[in-house]
Amino acid sequence: MKPRPFLAFLMVALLTIATVAQNWAPLGDPAREPVRVLLVVAHPDDEYEVAGTVYRISKELSGTVDQVIITDGEAGYRYSSLATPYYGVDLTNEAVGRARLPGIRKEEARRAGRILGIRHQWFLNERDDRFSLDAGESLHRSWHEKRILRALQQRLSKGHYDFVFVLLPSAQTHGEHKAASILALEAIELLPAGQRPIVLGAQAGGGDPTPYKSLSEYPLTAADSLNPQFHFDRNTRFGYQESLSYQIVVDWVIAEHKSQGLFQTRCLQDRFENFWLFTLNRNSAAGEAESLFAAVTPRPERAREIGIAGAAKPQ
Ligand SMILES: [Zn+2]
Repeated sequence: MKPRPFLAFLMVALLTIATVAQNWAPLGDPAREPVRVLLVVAHPDDEYEVAGTVYRISKELSGTVDQVIITDGEAGYRYSSLATPYYGVDLTNEAVGRARLPGIRKEEARRAGRILGIRHQWFLNERDDRFSLDAGESLHRSWHEKRILRALQQRLSKGHYDFVFVLLPSAQTHGEHKAASILALEAIELLPAGQRPIVLGAQAGGGDPTPYKSLSEYPLTAADSLNPQFHFDRNTRFGYQESLSYQIVVDWVIAEHKSQGLFQTRCLQDRFENFWLFTLNRNSAAGEAESLFAAVTPRPERAREIGIAGAAKPQ
């Protein structure tokens, strides 16, 4: 019997969906591809929000994590006085800071990226203007919106990522964080449906984060839930006498961003990396993200596999 064109198409479509849904293996099954993640952020220190999760994926689960950093970070000069003698440059002088910080912050991001096992970093060198809650300021005034969108589309097409992490575009966050996440969501939506990675919004904080409400002017920022669906506990204890934790790795990362003086006070402040799924994801996204976070969350039964003694009990 000759195969009917529609049935043949349906079978190919189903096979494609099955491949997209199951072609990564976070625990290093040699028969399957390691998980591929892209992190899209506005600033050179924004990887902090997901540092523990990224470290787990790249260093302990054999996954790959790439990063796109949209701005040059030049607006961070106000908190740079401690770094002035360290770098030997008066970074708190706005003109000097804006001229020298892009190079310094790029190098700081590279060092932090090495700690986290980030494979590649792309710097789009857009202007880091000033603090504002308004995403529109970046999208329509200080950034080259179309250029960024094109760069993100190309990166997504070439990278074949399973997951994309962006900062949660909550109302209270920096407008540039919001703008970076909006552009990543737009770039993902422009991909053919079968090639779209699963995208999650992330925010480091306590175990009881503020419920997330999407930005009414940007419907793409809608999430599946008010509360986070997944989290990574930086206080997970392991090592000799269970005295180590992922907070230490996060502190290594913070320490690399010396030009961001105030940032250093985040040490030991945010126990959890909380994640929300965006509504634009395909229907199977929740199950796939659950598989990822089941692997990312160290469990006692995996102790021998990854050298983790056990998870800390919630306080
Ligand atoms: Zn930032």
